[in-house]
Amino acid sequence: MSVRPLDLDPTLCFINGEWRPGETGQLLELADPSTGQALCEIARGGSADIDAAVAAAAACARGVWGQSTAAERGRILHRLGGLVLENAQELARIEAMDVGKPLKQAHADVVALARYMEFYGGAADKVHGETLPYLSGYTVYTLREPHGVTGHIIPWNYPMQIIGRSVGAALAMGNACVLKPAEEACLTALAFAELGRQAGLPAGALNVVPGLGTEAGAALSGHAGVQHLSFTGSVAVGKLVQQAAGRNVVPVTLELGGKSPQLVFADADIDAALPFLVNAGIQNAGQTCSAASRILVQRSIYADVSQAMAERYRALNVGPALDDLDVGPLISARQKEIVEGFLAQGRDLEIIAQGAIAARAPAAGSYVRPTLFADVAPEHPLAQQEIFGPVQVLIPFEDEAEALEIANGTGYGLVASVWTRDGARQMRLARALRAGQVFLNNYGAGGGVELPFGGRGLSGHGREKGFEALYGFSALKTVAALHG
Ligand code: NAD
Repeated sequence: MSVRPLDLDPTLCFINGEWRPGETGQLLELADPSTGQALCEIARGGSADIDAAVAAAAACARGVWGQSTAAERGRILHRLGGLVLENAQELARIEAMDVGKPLKQAHADVVALARYMEFYGGAADKVHGETLPYLSGYTVYTLREPHGVTGHIIPWNYPMQIIGRSVGAALAMGNACVLKPAEEACLTALAFAELGRQAGLPAGALNVVPGLGTEAGAALSGHAGVQHLSFTGSVAVGKLVQQAAGRNVVPVTLELGGKSPQLVFADADIDAALPFLVNAGIQNAGQTCSAASRILVQRSIYADVSQAMAERYRALNVGPALDDLDVGPLISARQKEIVEGFLAQGRDLEIIAQGAIAARAPAAGSYVRPTLFADVAPEHPLAQQEIFGPVQVLIPFEDEAEALEIANGTGYGLVASVWTRDGARQMRLARALRAGQVFLNNYGAGGGVELPFGGRGLSGHGREKGFEALYGFSALKTVAALHG
């Protein structure tokens, strides 16, 4: 089965509108998480390729792209969204194989990518400054200008969605982008570059350099020719990227991890909550920054909710991405080891249910059984640390005050949800929860092109998605004219 996205050569970089080999000619092997076998080779881009990509982007930002009208940029992004949908089957198949994501979930990512292009294409010409009252004899107004060259370093778990939200918003504002996809999964990033070319993005507006984080990633985050950095990934690397950005004094958006809670009160509609409680934990095999990995349940309904969740867990099937079961493999053997390490830390806890690995799942694939732990103390490592696997912990609580204390009791603050029919409690908790997004009687792990998204604390800072991202990807200028 071909893994050449849109018939491209995946060993190439996309720089200045052209497909070319990396400067050193070295390649990296990409593995298929479903089988453990080699999938294909990709370029091992390095600092020389990043230099070339930044130079191409700078010329484009100063030239044709920076001077284009917002309406023209919007039109191209719309066209790009249309091309994404026209190639939906192929993009979904490539993403499923590369990431190990069940086909239906990969297809949802394709649709989200197209939606980002529609949203930011439509928004491009609706971002404007203001006129401000000032001293007599003055007219004062603000302009929103592109930063210039924006660097985008993204992880492997949702390549298409993260490209959509960060590159889409940056391009809409007239920035030219250098994208460093993850070394574990980068094929749809390459396909996106080709579709961008076909949609009419000028040479240099979008450059893609695959490679290792410590090489191409570090070169991009420390590059003096980059005026804004958008990083999505782990806390440890986020700190390095922020330090690199600091050395060049450029703004940085950090979209990091999470340990997001769902709070279930005794007065909640439990039947409505149940699918959200489980799906938000096992979607993409739990490798979702906004996964609901902690389920806090009021003591009086704790037994019922845990039993109902356990039933759902027992029905979960894990298998190869193209078999399109409930859960696919983890991204790599290394990630599997990390998750198994966490499961070992829970050896003294009660596992109340696990899903099953399909018999036909290849032994060398990175499969783990979805696992639900009961009665976990809030300070236990499994209730504190991001696992990034299909593992959820159930934590009982007595009352609202205790629920809030547990919910806010980790270093993270990405997403939270509250299940209750009590409107006053909804309002109180929506304010008191430390999170970038709060869902009331629903849970939107990763969803919502239109909704600003980002973290507090260890989950990062800055906002992507929605209109808010357009402010982050632009620089505000105030113009004061004295005319008497
Ligand atoms: P990671 O930090 O290891 O890698 C992310 C990206 O950074 C990759 O492209 C990698 O090559 C690059 N990188 C690695 N070292 C680098 C360095 N020294 N300098 C510059 N770049 C470097 O993260 P991961 O394991 O790929 O992804 C998982 C993490 O990402 C989880 O913590 C998850 O929560 C987080 N994540 C967050 C969001 C969000 O929106 N908040 C979304 C998806 C994933």
